[in-house]
Amino acid sequence: MKIVMLGAPGAGKGTQAKKISEKYGIPHISTGDIFRANIKENTELGQKAKTYMDKGLLVPDELVVDLVVDRLAQDDAKKGYVLDGFPRTIPQAEALTDALAKIGEKMDYAINVEVPDENIVRRMSGRRACVACGGTYHIKYNPTKVEGKCDACGGDLILRDDDKPETVKQRLEVYHTQTQPLIDYYEKEGIMREVDGTVDLEDVFNAIIEILE
Ligand code: ADP
Ligand code: ADP
Ligand code: ZN
Repeated sequence: MKIVMLGAPGAGKGTQAKKISEKYGIPHISTGDIFRANIKENTELGQKAKTYMDKGLLVPDELVVDLVVDRLAQDDAKKGYVLDGFPRTIPQAEALTDALAKIGEKMDYAINVEVPDENIVRRMSGRRACVACGGTYHIKYNPTKVEGKCDACGGDLILRDDDKPETVKQRLEVYHTQTQPLIDYYEKEGIMREVDGTVDLEDVFNAIIEILE
């Protein structure tokens, strides 16, 4: 099963992708996590990506596409995957479709987690991310068992630099101009599905399971 998660920053793509990954035993591939890991290790890619991420802008397509295509060729991706944060532009989506077509495959589902902009800024200021595994929590809507520590791995939780309100507003603008057109793109491919992302996260997940089964 091959799934693309779509939705604004903070819509809950990562939260749901993780649950899908656990339930169906397919890898959760997040380009944001890959970039943050590279920033932590101070790689050349990380240094380049950071300049864009800090401003709330997208990393250029040419730094993203090959990275993802290589990742999808790894063994654990043979039985499928859930993509979170990629594609984010029409050229990225086209590159993905082409790379799959070359090996006789295609995406199965694109799932749009729908959350209005008004809810996003509030959600993001309460988001806490694990520096070790990338897991995300929310101080109110999805708190950890021990404050400041990741439930999954015990890592420290932080408020991401790009989750500050000014940067979130910029990211929302980028989302509307560059990423939202993907909804039309996947409509045309005939695989677009929508879920209401404003309800409790377990209910969002149940709606997704209904689509997948
Ligand atoms: P969110 O969880 O809020 O949707 P991500 O962790 O997916 O954010 O992404 C954080 C930042 O990483 C983005 O604002 C962007 O700068 C960069 N990024 C992640 N994925 C991509 C991509 N596919 N194309 C371009 N930039 C990306
Ligand atoms: P994205 O990957 O789309 O940027 P996340 O999955 O990181 O979004 O979720 C953003 C924030 O909102 C996190 O703090 C997360 O715990 C919280 N969250 C996710 N889903 C819900 C939901 N259905 N209701 C309330 N808060 C949620
Ligand atoms: Zn963790």
